[in-house]
Amino acid sequence: MKGSRPKHKKLTPMLAQYLRVKEQAGDAILLFRLGDFYEIFLEDAERAAPILEVTLTSRNKDAAEPVPMCGVPHHAVDSYIAKLLAADLKVAICDQLSDPATSPGLVERGLVRIITPATVLEEGEGLQGSRSSHLSVLVREGQSAGIAIATVDISTGEVRSCLAGGEAAAREELARIAPREVLVPPDDAALAELVVGITPAVAERGAPAVEWAPAVDAELARFAMAEDAGFDAAEREALRRALAYIAETLRGGFDHLRAPVHYGFADHLQLDERSRKNLAVVEGSGGKAHGSLWWVLDDTVTAMGARRLRDWLVYPLQDLAAIGRRCDAIESLIESPGLRRDLVAELRRIGDFERLVARFGVGRVGPREAARLGRALAAAATVPELLGAGEPAELLERLAEESVNPPGWAERIAEILADELPRQLADGGVIRDGADAEVDRLRGLGKDAETMLAELEAQEREATGIQSLKIRHHRVLGYFFDVTKRNLELVPEHFIRRQSLASSERFATPKLSELEQQLNTADARCREREAEIFQELIVDIGRYEGALARQATALANVDVLIALAEVAHQRGYVRAELHRGTALEIREGRHPVVERTSAAGSFVANDALLDDETRQLVILTGPNMAGKSTYLRQVALITLMAHAGSFVPAASARIPLTDRIWTRVGAGDDLVAGDSTFMVEMKETAAILSNLTARTLVILDEIGRGTSTYDGIAIAWAVAEFLHDWEPAPGARAKTIFATHFHELVGLAATHPRVANASVSVREWKDEVLFLRKVVDGPASRSYGISVARLAGVPDAVVRRARELLRRLEAADGPVGGAGVAVATTTASDDAEGQIDLFAAPDESLRRELAAIEIEALTPLDAMNRLAALVAAARSDGDA
Ligand code: ADP
Ligand code: MG
Repeated sequence: MKGSRPKHKKLTPMLAQYLRVKEQAGDAILLFRLGDFYEIFLEDAERAAPILEVTLTSRNKDAAEPVPMCGVPHHAVDSYIAKLLAADLKVAICDQLSDPATSPGLVERGLVRIITPATVLEEGEGLQGSRSSHLSVLVREGQSAGIAIATVDISTGEVRSCLAGGEAAAREELARIAPREVLVPPDDAALAELVVGITPAVAERGAPAVEWAPAVDAELARFAMAEDAGFDAAEREALRRALAYIAETLRGGFDHLRAPVHYGFADHLQLDERSRKNLAVVEGSGGKAHGSLWWVLDDTVTAMGARRLRDWLVYPLQDLAAIGRRCDAIESLIESPGLRRDLVAELRRIGDFERLVARFGVGRVGPREAARLGRALAAAATVPELLGAGEPAELLERLAEESVNPPGWAERIAEILADELPRQLADGGVIRDGADAEVDRLRGLGKDAETMLAELEAQEREATGIQSLKIRHHRVLGYFFDVTKRNLELVPEHFIRRQSLASSERFATPKLSELEQQLNTADARCREREAEIFQELIVDIGRYEGALARQATALANVDVLIALAEVAHQRGYVRAELHRGTALEIREGRHPVVERTSAAGSFVANDALLDDETRQLVILTGPNMAGKSTYLRQVALITLMAHAGSFVPAASARIPLTDRIWTRVGAGDDLVAGDSTFMVEMKETAAILSNLTARTLVILDEIGRGTSTYDGIAIAWAVAEFLHDWEPAPGARAKTIFATHFHELVGLAATHPRVANASVSVREWKDEVLFLRKVVDGPASRSYGISVARLAGVPDAVVRRARELLRRLEAADGPVGGAGVAVATTTASDDAEGQIDLFAAPDESLRRELAAIEIEALTPLDAMNRLAALVAAARSDGDA
């Protein structure tokens, strides 16, 4: 901040103090406490004033070098902090460390906290209940391509880390974590680049500053991140940097962090960023939860439950047993609506226990938080019993054990704390009457003094004869007799004038001062004693932090399981059978989000079948708006839900264990097409084709659309062939559904044994096109466009000519080797009538096609393909 230092020749002591603190605050906007305000000076003030919508003024206005400043009232500081954070700024808080009333001269001040997007701990400052607040730290692993990612949620104490194999994997993982803030090593532009579009809050940080190193190393030692527990050296270093950053911003305090969990990429079903967006797993349009799978399933009643559910959806499992345990639990909860109701009632009272507990670790607990913990614990007391009743499912039994209350705490908190609590401990009145003899005694003294005040007031009123004589209290002045101007001549000798106002005068008496003294001493001592008891309580609770955190995790899981059971029950979801085989069989599947947003009962359910024999690659055709994209996504979503342990929207579902879902939507489906988007489309396609496993599910939606028709068909065709032929494991291949409007692709089925055609059916009825939304075997009718033209009132002659031209195009000028073209002449019944009338004979097209063949130019394989296509065409024409 050297550049910003003003060249004031004579700094006031206060401003000098400000600049010293500002030095420590770095690039954060410094809020400097001055009495009842937080003031912002100099450049900070110029940046902050418009964001905070406060007036920019200046100190020393008349001096030669005025200091720009603005300020916000301290009691409303939360909302101003939120505004600064929302503008991607960091905020540093400088508080008064000595009491201005008792310390002569300059009040001592110091930096107490730096608030960054990931270190926000208050809802009022912008902490979002249902969203995790992750800080991720990236560190490269030695000479290899690996990148360690350590992630900490300071608001819950959760810590985890993994090692990505390279930049692409690291980017993918970051997108999944969706951190609020990321630290990258200084001078590593490539790593900084990875984060673009994921979060704007990127800070450069290297090894911890000397100041924090000992604390950080002690904490790391506590974690015991041994190599044999799966932790790489780079992961340890990433975590070290995370801890240092927390120490730097929170100024100490990370006792609440739990031991880190190492996870590997093979532990979860992988979904890249683009696919997660395509499928709207956790974000609908516009980045909101609304319209996403998360939104449909989120029947949780606590914010911690909502966060946990999101986690389950972005980290679906690979462990069949663990998935089975979730399903067993959901099944038993579905069967016990009474239990669900009881648990939900308790959970509502429990609230965000996870973040509440974590606050004890960072030492940000006021009387109200402590009382909230007491109430939450009281509500949680019955949970283990409820969960463990009867013969519980294995997972519920485990959660019952883990959610047991630390004994006696709910009662102890309730006994100690008063019913009505102030926000701040310093305001007093925190400890319940009867909880502590000393507090009671001091309060008694205070009460006595109050009674004596009342007596004194009555006495003096009588003695002076001033009927309106009152003892009042002023924050600075203390107690005084208030005498109105017209009674002034009645004021006796022993009244000492303290202050004159327009309409009255204020007086003290020795007796009043004495009483005031007594009252103040009792009050001050009482507050001290109250604070002592309160701190003791907090420290004691802190000892149970680990147990409480475990309990919080269990309660969050209970909330998720109940929500999934509730949704499954209400929407008629079923348990999917997840298996190690390779066949996928969904009966009457539905798209969870589209179903939820369409009129009840209007969603048309569809089957989906994929296997390694005849339906490894399904080509799905059908006109625009038929329902192709919806169908593709529903197959992917059902697969994902099954791996998250959720029930699925279907009549039945057998789902093969899947390690990755790729979904790609052709650039043409985007509003702005062009070379660059086509390039993106092809890059993404390349990524899919080079990462196929036998357990991959590939969903391609209109791939090849972003370029000219012939190019597009050629690419789509070749991609489909590759997917069909590539054999990652003996006899097992990636399953694919490929929706396309390139009708030529239906020809693949004729020559590729594992390709099947399916289409979404449409019917013309009277003068309308009916979307039946039903997926059926076989390709779609090709002449749909012409039917629409007819419906739109295009003259008959034109329609007829169009049909004839279409026929010729199909016959003579197929762009893809002819095979697709001939098979494509398979017709649906809706345009058969026109053909019989208008074309002399079906043989005509076959004849033309035969005539067009240049035998010399064909390879033997081409010739076979060509022949197969012609035979197929001849047979289907025969049917027409
Ligand atoms: P396509 O990809 O073939 O152009 P979409 O999948 O985008 O078609 O679907 C078009 C519209 O049809 C969607 O807005 C959706 O609401 C509706 N839709 C799709 N499938 C179904 C279905 N099975 N039942 C009811 N409505 C559906
Ligand atoms: Mg579509």
